[in-house]
Amino acid sequence: MTLKPLIAAAALLLAACTTAPVPADPPAPEWRLAIHGGAGVITRGSMTPEQEAEFTAGLQAALAAGAEVLRNGGSAVDAVQAAVLPMEDNPIFNAGKGAVFTAAGTHELDASIMEGATRNAGSVAGVTIVKNPILAARAVMDKSEHVMFAGPGADAFAKEQGLEIVPNTYFDTERRREALDRVLEERTRTAEDRHGTVGAVAIDINGNLAAATTTGGMTAKTPGRIGDSPLIGAATYAENGVCAVSATGHGEYFIRVGVAKTICDRVKLKGESIGDAAREALGEVATLGGDGGVVLIDGDGHPDFVFNSEGMYRGWIDATGSWTAIYGDDEQ
Ligand code: ASP
Repeated sequence: MTLKPLIAAAALLLAACTTAPVPADPPAPEWRLAIHGGAGVITRGSMTPEQEAEFTAGLQAALAAGAEVLRNGGSAVDAVQAAVLPMEDNPIFNAGKGAVFTAAGTHELDASIMEGATRNAGSVAGVTIVKNPILAARAVMDKSEHVMFAGPGADAFAKEQGLEIVPNTYFDTERRREALDRVLEERTRTAEDRHGTVGAVAIDINGNLAAATTTGGMTAKTPGRIGDSPLIGAATYAENGVCAVSATGHGEYFIRVGVAKTICDRVKLKGESIGDAAREALGEVATLGGDGGVVLIDGDGHPDFVFNSEGMYRGWIDATGSWTAIYGDDEQ
């Protein structure tokens, strides 16, 4: 078999990578925050005006919460946490409330956070009773000598830390139940049914970067399955002066490519822009058969959004203004 068709297919997939418009040549910001609320088959035809408005409002609330921290001189790591929290509490996103169901009809959530100044990081995988997984990831970073806790140990750690504990059914929503039924019956299996995630990257007034990601994972995942979201270097990475990344997409491919660390390494070692580095990394994801996207901020605070899916809920905010978008062809 000749390699030519494969190479042509890979080139096509790479060309399909979409870079969302960002400020043309933004001045170095005092602070800036960029977020995503998941990527997938998100097309104009598949969304009602009401759904569009709901997602836009959800993104704006997250941006406002993170901006509040940064505007008052708070740290990038506090800002990404503050931005992720309202998305975890908002049932339209696949993070806390509103997380997708496993094949067993339960919820298992993953989250990670990383601070670019120290490259300290914390994450939890497969938590089932922690209302806000990003707070558990933060506690792992700040209050333990470890980077990652999983399963019952992660739930127990969060409980010990005094975090809010909820029954697993707290995460239930009708919309995700219907998505599970659809996937299990294999009537339709759209990417929107399958996944979603929330994430944030930020630079604070001291030039510190941070990144955070939370997800319910993929609809009908086998219990015990862990995606890229809690893995430092796959979905989340931050290093001061280099870049901060939060990813969303088909996690297995993002793990295999090591997307977030690959992007930051290309920036650091090859001097590529965050956009070019992300297109390369997502090109590898696409070549393997995966899709998704990333939000990025470089060492100087310039944001970028790169994805190879039809759409990605996304936005940025800084002292000069803010912007949100949903579809691949959305202009600023
Ligand atoms: N990356 C997540 C996972 O694989 C899902 C997503 O971002 O849509 O668990």
